[in-house]
Amino acid sequence: MSITPLMPVYPRCGVRPVRGEHCHLISEDGTRYLDFASGIAVNLLGHSNEHLIGAIQHQAATLMHVSNLYGSPQGEHLAQRLVDLTFADTVFFTNSGAEAVECAIKTARAYHQHAGNTERFELITFKNAFHGRTMATISASNQEKMHKGFMPLLEGFRYVEFDDLEGVNAAIGPRTAGFLVEPIQGEGGIRDASPEFLQGLRALADEYDLMLIFDEVQCGVARTGDLYAYEQYGVTPDIMASAKGIGGGFPLGACLATEKAARGMVIGTHGSTYGGNPLAMAAAEAVLDVVAEPAFLAEVKAKGERLRGRLEQFIGNYPDMFELVRGRGLMLGVKMKIEPRPFVAHMRDNHQLLTVAAGDMTFRVLPPLVIDDSHIDEFMEKLSAATASYTVEAEPA
Ligand SMILES: *Cc1c(COP(=O)(O)O)cnc(C)c1O
Repeated sequence: MSITPLMPVYPRCGVRPVRGEHCHLISEDGTRYLDFASGIAVNLLGHSNEHLIGAIQHQAATLMHVSNLYGSPQGEHLAQRLVDLTFADTVFFTNSGAEAVECAIKTARAYHQHAGNTERFELITFKNAFHGRTMATISASNQEKMHKGFMPLLEGFRYVEFDDLEGVNAAIGPRTAGFLVEPIQGEGGIRDASPEFLQGLRALADEYDLMLIFDEVQCGVARTGDLYAYEQYGVTPDIMASAKGIGGGFPLGACLATEKAARGMVIGTHGSTYGGNPLAMAAAEAVLDVVAEPAFLAEVKAKGERLRGRLEQFIGNYPDMFELVRGRGLMLGVKMKIEPRPFVAHMRDNHQLLTVAAGDMTFRVLPPLVIDDSHIDEFMEKLSAATASYTVEAEPA
C-alpha cells in the first residue's frame, strides 16, 4: 500500500506545528515561526488566547452538542448578536465556509422558487473566485484546476470577469437569480472590488429583483478593520457567507440573510447535524467579545496601515521582485514579479516566517489581528532578510 493514511490531497510543507504561542507557532522539532498566515485568516486572536480557551473549556465541560432537534439558547444568543451587528435579520450556522456558501446559494434559489419563479436559478459568479471545495462551490468558480476529475459540475453558474459591471449587465437574463461575489478575492490574490462595481451590483440586484450574495468567508470578521468588508464599500448584501475567523480556530460558519432574502428557507428546507452547536457558539461569542469592539476594529485599521506603509516602502527597494501591495486592514497581498510560491517557501524554511501563496502572482500577509508593533518589526526584519538572501541566491554566479 502506498497511499498515506491522511488522504494525500494537500502538498503539505515540512513545518509540523505542535504548539502555538500568541503570534508564533512551534513545530515538532522546536523551530519557532512568526505566523503571518493565521491558519489562512482564521486565528484572529492568535494562538493560546486565554479568553477563547476559557470559553471553550467552560462550554466543553457544560454542554458540547445536542443537535438541532432542541431549542438553542446558545444559537439564539449568537444569532441575535450577529443580527444586531450586521445588515442581517436571520442566521444559519454551519461548520465551514463552503457550507455557508452552499446555504447562501440555496437561500438565493429558494427566494425565487418560493415565489414560483422556478426558471430563475442561475448565479452570476466571478473569474478567479474561490468559494470552497464542495460540488456547488467548485461549480461556482471558473478555476479548472478545481474541476478536473470531478465532472460534471452543478448547473446554474455563469462566470463573468471580476470587477466588470458591463459584463454582468450583459450576462443577466431570465434565468438569473443573483450574484455571488467576494468583495475582496482572497485565494485569487487579495484583489479588492472597486466600490463602483459592488454598488453597481447592488443597483442591478434592486432593478431586477436579484439576490446579492457576498462571500465574506475570508475578508469578514474584522480582518479589514470593519466587522464585515461590505461596511467599507457602503453596499449591503441580501445574503452573506461568513466563516474562517468567526470561530477563532474552532470550525464554524454562518449564512446571514435579510428577512426578505430568506423567505424560502422555511421549516424542513435545510439543516446540519453539528451546525451551531453550543461549543461552536461559545467560541464565536468569545471571538466577538474581542473583535466587534469599535476600539479593536480601529486598531486593526491602524495596524494595517502601518504594516502596509512599511511594506510599500520596503518593496520600493526591490523593483525587480515586487510589484505592489494591495488589500485592506490586515488582509494584505504582495504582488510579485516572480513566482511567489518558491519565495514563500524560502521565507518559511530559511527565515521562519509564515505567509500564504495566492493566485495572481501574490502572497498573502494575514497576521492574527492581535499583533502589536513588535510583530510588525519582526515581520519586516524577516521579510527583509529573506529578500536579501533570495536576491543573492538568484543572482548568477
Ligand atoms: C476559505 C474560503 C471558503 C471555503 O471555506 P472552507 O471553510 O474551507 O470550506 C469560501 N470562500 C472564501 C472566500 C474562502 O476564502
